[in-house]
Amino acid sequence: MKRIGVLTSGGDAQGMNAAVRSVVRVALENNLETYAIYEGYQGMVDGGSRIRPFGWNDVGGILQQGGTSIGSARCQEFRERNGRRRAAFNLVQHGIEGLVIIGGDGSLTGAHILQKEWRSLLQELVDEGQLGPEAIIQYQSLKIIGLVGSIDNDMYGTDMTIGADTALHRIVDAVDAIASTAASHQRSFVVEVMGRRCGYLALMSALATGADWVLIPEAPPNVDNWEDKMCSVLAKGREVGRRDSIVIVAEGAQDRYGKPITSQYVKEVLEDRLGEDTRVTVLGHVQRGGSPSAFDRNLSTLLGADAIEAMLSDETQTEPLVIGIQGNVITRTPLSHCLEKTWGVAEAIKAQNYDLAMNLRGRSFRDSFQIVRTMVRAVPHDPKPGQRRLRVAVMNGGGPSPGMNTAVRAAIRLGVDKGHIMLGVKNGFRGLIDGDISELNWMQVGGWAHRGGSELGTNRYIPHNGDFYAIARNLEEHQIDALLMIGGWAGYQSVLGMYEQRKIFPAFNIPLICLPATINNNLPGAELSVGADTALNSIIQAVDKIKQSAVASKRTFVVQVMGHYCGYLALMSAMATGAERVYMHEEGVTLQDLVEDVQQLQDGFKKGKRVGLMIRNEMANEIYSTSFMSALFEEEGGDLFDVRQAILGHLQQGGDPSPFDRILATRLAAKSIDFIEDQVISDEPISACIGLLKGEIKFTDLEDVPRMLDLEHSRPKKQWWLKLREVAGILAQPGPQSRKEYNNLDDEKQKRPKTRMETIDD
Ligand code: ADP
Repeated sequence: MKRIGVLTSGGDAQGMNAAVRSVVRVALENNLETYAIYEGYQGMVDGGSRIRPFGWNDVGGILQQGGTSIGSARCQEFRERNGRRRAAFNLVQHGIEGLVIIGGDGSLTGAHILQKEWRSLLQELVDEGQLGPEAIIQYQSLKIIGLVGSIDNDMYGTDMTIGADTALHRIVDAVDAIASTAASHQRSFVVEVMGRRCGYLALMSALATGADWVLIPEAPPNVDNWEDKMCSVLAKGREVGRRDSIVIVAEGAQDRYGKPITSQYVKEVLEDRLGEDTRVTVLGHVQRGGSPSAFDRNLSTLLGADAIEAMLSDETQTEPLVIGIQGNVITRTPLSHCLEKTWGVAEAIKAQNYDLAMNLRGRSFRDSFQIVRTMVRAVPHDPKPGQRRLRVAVMNGGGPSPGMNTAVRAAIRLGVDKGHIMLGVKNGFRGLIDGDISELNWMQVGGWAHRGGSELGTNRYIPHNGDFYAIARNLEEHQIDALLMIGGWAGYQSVLGMYEQRKIFPAFNIPLICLPATINNNLPGAELSVGADTALNSIIQAVDKIKQSAVASKRTFVVQVMGHYCGYLALMSAMATGAERVYMHEEGVTLQDLVEDVQQLQDGFKKGKRVGLMIRNEMANEIYSTSFMSALFEEEGGDLFDVRQAILGHLQQGGDPSPFDRILATRLAAKSIDFIEDQVISDEPISACIGLLKGEIKFTDLEDVPRMLDLEHSRPKKQWWLKLREVAGILAQPGPQSRKEYNNLDDEKQKRPKTRMETIDD
């Protein structure tokens, strides 16, 4: 195979550009030429200048842009065989043997049909004399790889579609903003979000913002008088002091008989029955807009890279594949299977078989729905008569991390709703030592879902010596049955310290649960910790601005990011911003590396590069510090470029938590409460740390934790994300294959028609 085409089709989604960039650059590294097909299937049907060769620099500077720079369209002609025959003709004319199609289920349905018809289309073209008979042999089959680009997250075969995370960012920002004005005036708001057949955006934004009611197509209200039920919950909420009422409605919401529930209808219900001043906000295309989130940039990059690997493997000979992410692993699933399952949900909703629809959506969707149902309650359920009411202490530990409050709020509310007495420990382990412990009720944690920082207070103090005695006494005094510590490395070390002293202090023989919350993402038993996604987004927003500032003046930036000894933030932000170099402690930095980097920078700027971007983890190397590197590059850059350093600092620990962090925090807290209930009644209660492992929430026994740790560098011995290093490396700088093209840039440019993005600054 020598040449492939890439196109974006259907509704645009943030991250499509990152996917195209990755496809083009990884293809180049694998000796494959890529043609961009402009305006989706329309470009394929029209041919001519809409199908153009694309190289390394054509995809420079697009990573952080929303939308799709090669255009997308809806194409009626492609729905008909004639249109597809013209498309096939154009592909053969351009020597294209494989396609990477980035689009929604409609676009991928089109791809499926094209692949099935391919041979017969070619036969017709040969019969008509438009193609020579050799075409049939030469272009026997068309290899197709699909990447799902859709903000709705509505397709089987991937846990997340390209654009869904960014859309959630837009929605959550909007709802947070609306909530503050709603609270000021004690108003009600009905917010309509996209999702004609999928309630993902509505459900997850309700979970993330702490909305008061949500309506989604898959799980309509299960009673006929749902309006009464909704109004009574909202009215009760007012009685207990809620200042805002927010109802989130998915575009495709319906009642259990399939009758649409519009946002306008909900507004009328609230006005008529509650007499509330109610406003409707239809978020519309705002949700599709703006720069992609860190997650979408990296997801698209990884999917694009695997699309090329899949293209070159034998797998796609017979069957188009969808590349997705499932359980934090990049997966390949036959397209026909994905389409069948996706249609299955739509059919189940249409047939009003909502149990089936919810089952098809999967466990995390169902769990999230259950959590939202509890969280929207105005007041918790009363304890069941005769039930054992546990006394559960909840605290933060370690450095502050966005999402800590979200997790505390969820734990308190879900615990109280199950009839337990929930206690908050102030000021981290110092508070536990001083006995700064008091009961927290349902309303006291209201509004914490979106608040950054730690309302309970947190610090890095690790108890030692006599501290344990004081802690044991306080646990006994408050009759604590279980402890949930939501925090980072120092919090984990403190809990491990208590765990190790169980023989001396029987009070520690209770379930001690650690929930990972640190921006560093350096904790055992969890692939992702609460706060890391927010920090990553803060970093990429800052770096995008820094890059823009540098374009004007031929400049290289050395940006220092946090992470302690863990390079997660450095690597992921480098991948998400198109940095050409990342320095991490895990890999080390040698003098030889720096010499090569200087060389690369000099070569790049000589060829017209305008911005250099190096991202350095704060502990990458003790001697080769950020200022050392900056000085070195400055000196060696001479007249070619100047150098500035940017130490991002504490902005990385602050800010309101991202949607992903809020959802993760809430889900982990919910499972922790369930786990605590199970463990308390067990003869040998297990203490554990909770976390996402391969997409599932799992518990790792504290017994096993010490040997998983690299104590000297405060990080786990095994770090799953290091395997992403290779892709980040390929995309950052032209490798041996791409360099041929890079070096011939000027000749190449003359040969080619001008593309929309002739930037060479990425
Ligand atoms: P999305 O890909 O975002 O779901 P659409 O459903 O509008 O968006 O599909 C985008 C394009 O894909 C359509 O305009 C059409 O060209 C093509 N397409 C969709 N469905 C089919 C189909 N059943 N047969 C052929 N082409 C299709």
